[in-house]
Amino acid sequence: MEVLVKSTIMPCPLLVSSMLERGANLFSDVAIISIRPDGFRHSYTYRDLRRRSRQLAAALQRAGIAQGDRVATLMWNEHEHLEAYFGVPSVGAVLHTLNLRLHPDDLAYIVNHAQDRFLIVDDVLLEVFEQIRPRVQFERVFVVDHGCGALPAGCESYDAFLAESIVEPSDADLAEDDAAAMCYTSGTTGRPKGVLYSHRAIALHSLAISLPDQLNLSCHDTLLPIVPMFHVNAWGLPYAATMNGSKQVLPGRNLRSKTLLDLLQNERVTVAGGVPSIWLAVLHALETDPSRWNLTQGLRLLVGGSAAPESMFRRFDKLGVHVIQAWGMTETTPVATACKLTPYMHGWTEDDRYAQRAKHGLPLPFIEARAVDDQGETHKDGKTAGELQVRGPWIAGSYYGLDQADKWTADGWFRTGDVATIDTEGFVKIVDRLKDLIKSGGEWISSVDLENALVAHQAVKEAAVIAVAHPKWQERPLAVIVLKDGSDVDASELRAFLGERFGRWQLPDAFVFVSELPHTSTGKLLKSQLRQDFNDWRWERS
Ligand code: ADP
Repeated sequence: MEVLVKSTIMPCPLLVSSMLERGANLFSDVAIISIRPDGFRHSYTYRDLRRRSRQLAAALQRAGIAQGDRVATLMWNEHEHLEAYFGVPSVGAVLHTLNLRLHPDDLAYIVNHAQDRFLIVDDVLLEVFEQIRPRVQFERVFVVDHGCGALPAGCESYDAFLAESIVEPSDADLAEDDAAAMCYTSGTTGRPKGVLYSHRAIALHSLAISLPDQLNLSCHDTLLPIVPMFHVNAWGLPYAATMNGSKQVLPGRNLRSKTLLDLLQNERVTVAGGVPSIWLAVLHALETDPSRWNLTQGLRLLVGGSAAPESMFRRFDKLGVHVIQAWGMTETTPVATACKLTPYMHGWTEDDRYAQRAKHGLPLPFIEARAVDDQGETHKDGKTAGELQVRGPWIAGSYYGLDQADKWTADGWFRTGDVATIDTEGFVKIVDRLKDLIKSGGEWISSVDLENALVAHQAVKEAAVIAVAHPKWQERPLAVIVLKDGSDVDASELRAFLGERFGRWQLPDAFVFVSELPHTSTGKLLKSQLRQDFNDWRWERS
C-alpha cells in the first residue's frame, strides 16, 4: 500500500470569518452591547452581528471593493465597528482602523499612504474627518448615524448602504496569509508605520490570548474592551471574544471612570482591557467611594500599553480585582507576553510575588523572546538588560510600503526598541524604551522604574522621568510630577521616598511640579515633548 506521508490534515485556512461563524452559530443569542454617544444602551446579538457584517460585505462587493483594497474606519468602540472588523476582511479587503486621536497631518499621511478607498465614520467624529478631508481622496464615505444632524455633502448613510444589499456576499477565495486588517504605529518613534495583519495571525493570536494562562477568555465571560478598537484591534479582544462567544460591552466614547465603573457593575463584566491611566483613574474612584460599586467577583483587568506600577496590583487586590499585565506593540498584533504566576511562585513572599506580577510575563505560545545586549549577548539572569527581540507567527515581517530592514535582525527577529531583562523563569520585564533610558556616567538608569516608584507615593498622581543633558555626567534624570488634588509634597520628601529603593546616583537631580503631562494618542507619556520642553534646563538652577 502506498503511504502518502504528505497528506496529513485538511488544508483549512485560518480565517477571520470562521471566528464570526463560530460565535454566531453556537452563541447566536449572546448579547453585544454598545453604549451610544448620548448614553443609550443598544443591545443586539451575535446573530445580528453576522447578518449585518454580511450585509456590509455584500454592499462593499457591489460597490466594487476588491481583494486587497483598504477600507478605513474612524470610529469608537460600537457594534458598527465590530461589523467592519468582520465584514471588511470577509470579502478579502483590508480593514484599516484610523486612530482618531492622531494629529490631522499624521492621519492624512496615513490615509494617503495606505491608499484607503472607502471610509466608515461615526457622525460624532465628522469633525475629525473634516480636518483631513481636503487632503485625502476617499471614493465613498459612509456615516454612522448617532443623531448628529444632516449628512454632510458627499457622504452617504452607513445604514442605507447596508440596506441596499439584499444578496449574500459571494465567497472570496481567501488564503490565510492574506491581509485582513492594518494599523499604523502611533508615531512616537518617527513617522507612523503601517503593519498588515494576516487572517492567520489574527486567528492564532485570538486562540493564544484566550488560553487559561493568558486571559482565560471563554463563553462564560463578559468582556469590556476599553482599549480603543481604532488602535491595534483593541488588543485583539473583540476577535477573541467573538470566537469564544463571550458577551461584549462596547463602551463608546465616554471613558470617564465613574461611567466605566457603572458599566463594569451593571453589565456584570468579568474581564476588561485598558491602559494604566484608565485603571489608575478607576482605582482612585473606587477607593474614594468603596461602597458605591458592587463588581463581579474575580473581575480580571488586562493592562498594557505602558508599564503598570506595582502599587496598582496591590491596591486592586485589596478590592478583589485581579490585574494581569501584558506587553506588545503594533508590530506584534499586539499581545506577545502576558504575566501570570506559575504554580510554585505562589509559595514566594508577598513582595516577591508582587515584583513578579509587575513584570510582563512569559511569551505566548509560538512567540519567542530574547534580550540582546550591546555585545550581541543574550542573558536570562533577570538583571542584565538588552534590546527585546521577538519572533513568531503574529510578529510583523515588514512594514507596509516601507523598507526598514534594520528593524529585523539578520537571523529573522524583530527589534522592538524596548529594553528588557529576562529572568531565570523566562519572565520578561520591560525596563524602558531604548530612547528613554538615561545614561549617567556610563551607567543606565531606568526612567520607568523611577516613575513606577514615584506613583506609589500617596501624593503623586502621575510622574515622568526624562534624561537631561549634564556637563559632567552626560545625562541626569529629571522628574516631572503631577500631584493629586489637594496633596502637597516637596522635592526632598520625594527624594527620601525614592532613596529607600534606589541608589543615590539613580535619584532624579530635580523634581518639577506641573498641572499635567503630555500624552500620546494612545495615552502614553509623550516623553519626546517633555525632552523638548526641558531642553534648555540648567542644572545649577535645581
Ligand atoms: P507606539 O510604538 O507608536 O507608541 P504601540 O501601541 O505599538 O505604539 O506601542 C508599543 C510600545 O508600548 C511598546 O514598544 C512598549 O514600549 C510600550 N508598551 C506596551 N505595553 C507595555 C507594558 N505593559 N509595559 C511597558 N511598556 C509597554
